[in-house]
Amino acid sequence: MEKETISKNFIEQIIDKDLAEGKYDTICTRFPPEPNGYLHIGHAKSILLNYGLAQEYNGEFHLRFDDTNPTKEKTEFVESIKADVEWLGADWKEHLYFASNYFDQMYEAAVKLIKKGKAFVCDLDAQQMREYRGTLTEPGKDSPYRERSIEENLSLFEAMKNGEFEDGTKVLRAKIDMASPNMNMRDPVIYRVAHMHHHNTGDKWCIYPMYDFAHPIEDAIEGVTHSICTLEFEDHRPLYDWVVRELEYDKPPKQIEFAKLYLTNVVTGKRYIKKLVEEGIVDGWDDPRLVSIAALRRRGFTPEAIQKFVELCGVSKADSSVDYAMLEYCIREDLKMKRSRMMAVLDPIKLVIDNYPEGEYEMLDVANNLENEELGYRKVPFGRELYIERDDFMEEPPRKYFRLFPGNEVRLMHAYFVKCESFVKDENGKITEVHCTYDPETKAGTGFTGRKVKGTIHWVPVPQAVKAEVRLYENIIDEEKGVYNEDGTLNLNPNSLTILKDCVVEPSFADAKAYDSYQFVRNGFFCIDAKDSSASHLVFNRIVSLKSSFRLPKAD
Ligand code: ATP
Ligand code: MG
Repeated sequence: MEKETISKNFIEQIIDKDLAEGKYDTICTRFPPEPNGYLHIGHAKSILLNYGLAQEYNGEFHLRFDDTNPTKEKTEFVESIKADVEWLGADWKEHLYFASNYFDQMYEAAVKLIKKGKAFVCDLDAQQMREYRGTLTEPGKDSPYRERSIEENLSLFEAMKNGEFEDGTKVLRAKIDMASPNMNMRDPVIYRVAHMHHHNTGDKWCIYPMYDFAHPIEDAIEGVTHSICTLEFEDHRPLYDWVVRELEYDKPPKQIEFAKLYLTNVVTGKRYIKKLVEEGIVDGWDDPRLVSIAALRRRGFTPEAIQKFVELCGVSKADSSVDYAMLEYCIREDLKMKRSRMMAVLDPIKLVIDNYPEGEYEMLDVANNLENEELGYRKVPFGRELYIERDDFMEEPPRKYFRLFPGNEVRLMHAYFVKCESFVKDENGKITEVHCTYDPETKAGTGFTGRKVKGTIHWVPVPQAVKAEVRLYENIIDEEKGVYNEDGTLNLNPNSLTILKDCVVEPSFADAKAYDSYQFVRNGFFCIDAKDSSASHLVFNRIVSLKSSFRLPKAD
């Protein structure tokens, strides 16, 4: 397979070594979202990386909601996250978990640490805690509560659990090393008092574990072997290792960090997207200009294109930004052969074929995709009156303009040669009609070789045309001009959305349904909008244009 010819990434190398040394018999990975927002393209990378590794090594992949923090979680996100992960093709099978279901085990783990003399209840307040913590250049100081007896710690911790203390008055801390050069190891807080309702456990708990303590336990409970996270957790790894070591897990999981995926000209931060949504700049979290998974799906991206994109990005330890154009390249490549090539006119003007009999029309057989026979044929009506793109006609053409102008002949795609004879202007000088004659000898598919034309233009038959709204998109921010304005607000691209209300499409979209996508010849790839399109009012999103200057970077 392809995989063998490409060298393995650093995570695969770690896994190979672990398996060879017998550290683990099989592997298990997980995707651990906090249910506090929608997933975006960066999460897709994490999902597909974890799922891909599980597939490659015949291991297990878990979807685990990391819902240990009662302040932020919302159940609505659980459903959207599941839908997104599923859509991306990452199958968690029976392995759907909620970290909050492990609160009992986490509590027991904390008790175990206390019993080993490795954790203590501390009464310092937040301000004092900061003072005792030291700085990057100075060691911290031991808390005056550090030497409490095991018995006292056990009874205080139980009292914490029983709701006997106010929020913020007591915490449980790991007893590690206040002089450690790694700040995370300076007796970190592992449990706090918080009288808060939890979406899953209700009011059962008034103490909640901190992420750095909870996460390794969640991994260990599920038998995760390789706990893959992003680089900002690198400094937390010694604590992760400390937790699994002190809790004496058999075949403990290990944490591996990789660089986050960043895209140019794109916002992924929850805070900013929230702002865009709240200020009505975008139409919800799935606005097609955003890169949440829901937005990409609505725009017309496919899971295959996202998989390809993630694969091309690779896995690395160094932060970098990937050009948005690479994502566009991936969707173009994916759809090119798979989708029918339809005729749609985005800015129509009428073309009249004066020598074509009035009231008559013929049905042309049109290949859906000349490069892919399997997509078959469709019938398109052709007659005397057609719509063509306004810019396919010019009264006074510049050099090298090969489309319609007075006296010039072009091919109407899938149909005949037509020659421009005259045109009509309205009182404002705007062209309203182009008049042509056609040559019946030149019908496409009949092998006509008599003469050649340099231009081919597409069209839509007037009587059968279906009106459609088309939405064109550009990046919502323009990085070249700076992502932020001086006052810290986002520097938005005013042209990020263009709505074309008077487009026409051929009558072959009768069965079109949400998310269906097509190529519109010469105009790009388009997708039926899942929110606003209906049988009586078709709305298409442009996924991507056809051309790009993007080239895949050469492998070095
Ligand atoms: P928060 O700001 O709420 O922490 P988050 O984007 O980190 O947001 P999580 O739900 O914690 O959201 O992330 C789930 C997983 O996705 C984590 O393992 C995280 O490392 C990974 N992840 C998040 N953003 C990216 C990214 N840009 N590239 C790759 N992986 C990412
Ligand atoms: Mg996070």
